[in-house]
Amino acid sequence: THAFTRGRATPPREPLERPYLQQQYVSQRITHTDVTPLAALPPGVDRAEWLASNTVAFFKNINLFFSALSEFCTPSTCPTACGPGNTVYFWTDDHGRKLKCSAPLYFDYAMSYVQDLLTDEDVFPTKAGSVFPTGFIFLVQKVFLLFFRTLAHIYWSHYKEMLVLGLHPHLNTLFTHLTLFCRQHALLELEDTEPLQDLITALGQ
Ligand SMILES: [Zn+2]
Repeated sequence: THAFTRGRATPPREPLERPYLQQQYVSQRITHTDVTPLAALPPGVDRAEWLASNTVAFFKNINLFFSALSEFCTPSTCPTACGPGNTVYFWTDDHGRKLKCSAPLYFDYAMSYVQDLLTDEDVFPTKAGSVFPTGFIFLVQKVFLLFFRTLAHIYWSHYKEMLVLGLHPHLNTLFTHLTLFCRQHALLELEDTEPLQDLITALGQ
């Protein structure tokens, strides 16, 4: 069973209601350097180590974005955890129960889940020469799906706040880096990225 299932709710909004696709915003990044080389495995580096260190770095950045939004993403503004096209994300608890929960609760669960993995020495060993567990890639894929959904929710539900806070160039840069990294290391399925494929294309990937 898939831990993070999704379903459709209310009818999708019109494309015009996707301000993140507007050219004046799409063109804004904090750097115009090609970030593709940042995603590739550097020569001589162990692939698991590279995935682990990048997972930690993305986690810190995504957490910062989500904290910046904490006063705007509440159970009343976001009663469901949704992404583009009003895709609804369900959380599956430890007992396999599917929970439809508010966005802040869903992303709290998500961030705690990732935090627990990152601090588990058996999953993300930090000591030099440690062996990564079997199934490590599978866990990394789950983590990046949660990262992707967090950014998808921000683009879909909180883009106006991003503009007000002036964080949209950072968001575009982080999203570009994340999607390139996932493609480079085959971390996400096409069906996972599909809800933001229009943005991925607009950002020039
Ligand atoms: Zn929200």
